[in-house]
Amino acid sequence: MSEVVLRLVGVSRQYGSGETAVTALSGIDLEVARGELVAVMGASGSGKSTLLAIAGGLAAPTSGEVVVEGEFLSGLSSSRLAALRRRSLGFVFQDFNLIPTLTALENITLPLELDGFGARVARRAGRDALASVGLDDRRGAYPDELSGGQQQRVAIARAVVGSRRLILADEPTGALDTTTGDQVLRMLRSRVDAGAAAILVTHEARHASWADRILSLRDGRIVDETRRDGPDVLLAGARA
Ligand code: ADP
Ligand code: MG
Repeated sequence: MSEVVLRLVGVSRQYGSGETAVTALSGIDLEVARGELVAVMGASGSGKSTLLAIAGGLAAPTSGEVVVEGEFLSGLSSSRLAALRRRSLGFVFQDFNLIPTLTALENITLPLELDGFGARVARRAGRDALASVGLDDRRGAYPDELSGGQQQRVAIARAVVGSRRLILADEPTGALDTTTGDQVLRMLRSRVDAGAAAILVTHEARHASWADRILSLRDGRIVDETRRDGPDVLLAGARA
């Protein structure tokens, strides 16, 4: 299994220019395959959010290439880039980013309908996605009627609905208590085991233990990479 979903080649990113320029990322090479969950750790300011934004085509690298499902993002027009983002990519942020005036189900079906799917097809895919995070019975609830953990599970469902195969999560458990955070990570892990690829930015080593690989960023560079090979009894226990 090494169907590469995301490839970063020599990616660097600077903000500003001249004396005040900040190098947020420097020479990042990274591949993430289907079925792989990669955790990114590092101090505040080390470049984690910039890495996710570039991987998801929300920001462009200053140099280097980003390839998502075989497409070079630099070669796409802005409308084709937007379409690729809607079709292939799901973002999960710390603050959930759900639309308060839409139900759980509507929050999930909106991106599909924007992408031209009919309402019935979108609804079916949305219900499947909600069921996959254990929330089908809450589909009519508005975000403020859901707990933090439920809201984040809706955000994960939205991130994986349809054929989205790359999930980019920036500290998705930051606003959640420990138990709820674990629940959300278990959900993310199971979506990856079902065939998605994901990057999880996290501060907590305990959360990174759900990943297949852990990258450490410092000053915009990958300074360490830990790979988990073969079965891991502790991890399997944690997933049960
Ligand atoms: P992290 O998510 O690890 O905290 P970021 O990717 O947010 O790191 O930031 C990496 C570096 O880039 C930091 O020095 C930050 O101050 C800088 N930076 C991030 N976004 C911007 C921006 N829009 N303009 C200028 N500097 C930025
Ligand atoms: Mg950040």
